[in-house]
Amino acid sequence: MRIAEIHLYRHDLPVLGGPFTLANAEVRLLSTTLLKLVADNGLVGWGETCPIGPTYAEAHAAGAVAALGEMAPGLLGAEVWPVPLHRRMAGLLDGHHYAKAAVDIAAHDLLGKHLGVSVSELLGGALTDRVPSYYSTGVGSPDDTARLAARKRAEGYPRLQVEIGGRAVEEDIETVRKVWEVIRGSGMRLAVDGNRGLTTRDALRLSGECRDIPFVLEQPCGTVEELRAIRPRINHALYLDENGTSLNTALTTAGSGLVDGFGMKVTRIGGLHPMRAFRDLCAARNLPHTCDDSWGGDIIAAACTHVGATVAPELMEGVWLAADYIEGHYDQENGVRAEGGYIKRPQGPGLGIVPDETLFGVPEMSF
Ligand SMILES: [Mg+2]
Repeated sequence: MRIAEIHLYRHDLPVLGGPFTLANAEVRLLSTTLLKLVADNGLVGWGETCPIGPTYAEAHAAGAVAALGEMAPGLLGAEVWPVPLHRRMAGLLDGHHYAKAAVDIAAHDLLGKHLGVSVSELLGGALTDRVPSYYSTGVGSPDDTARLAARKRAEGYPRLQVEIGGRAVEEDIETVRKVWEVIRGSGMRLAVDGNRGLTTRDALRLSGECRDIPFVLEQPCGTVEELRAIRPRINHALYLDENGTSLNTALTTAGSGLVDGFGMKVTRIGGLHPMRAFRDLCAARNLPHTCDDSWGGDIIAAACTHVGATVAPELMEGVWLAADYIEGHYDQENGVRAEGGYIKRPQGPGLGIVPDETLFGVPEMSF
């Protein structure tokens, strides 16, 4: 099966109840990029990539469109199987994993439909149809964040992620302490995510002053070198997120014992094929991780849920969905959503999502 047509769409996703605030990004409206692959047998597969604004990471919406436009002519006639497809993409453009991921996800959707199996089955097989999710608070005031934590605890989320950074560390510490007061004893697990927004000085202070609170500290500082500097002096398990930009960084940081787990984004690492290798690498070292993405609609959500369903449950930290912040779905019937803190794995071949194409308008580019 070979690629016969490629169509690129841009679609706006306004942030419900926005802005959504992180240490280095504040977003009200996100531009997602959707990619439709048509195979030479007429089957269709969908991919998506949606950076959370231009400052969260080295990625932006217009960059995704440009990178896909650069590769698209050279992808016509390419094999849809992931190994030759990734090799072809590497020969057309260096890096730009977040753009290549849209092609990778669409190819998995196509292959699943062609073989009559789900994307989880393509990735080795699902271990569950009920994938745990987690809720991410955004950076908010201590009282607002604690109120939100109480609500999400009541809804049944097994894990809460409190975003911090980009402000005085005293407010971050107060936020973490107030959240802990409302979830303590509930069994809800806690992650505190700095999104690269803390100095090593503030990360050390946060960990020192919250020594009694059992949270995972996710990517507090901006670089691997800063994480290495604080690693021996903190009281909490350390996770890598934004610096985990490739299988190479995952291998290096896991192999050297720098981190205890990962927040991992499917598009940042280049799609489902590299995500499968990442999953197996983590399993070899018993390292827990998430399977999510920075933002995006039902296509991204389905891709994350399918790979999340293949992760050993004891290592699965959850699949985060942007759905809570997005009005509506691409697929009204099968749209991916968390209920009671868990996500139902989409059924049917491929991603199990049939997007309503009319939502996306005319393609930005067609090849
Ligand atoms: Mg994170």
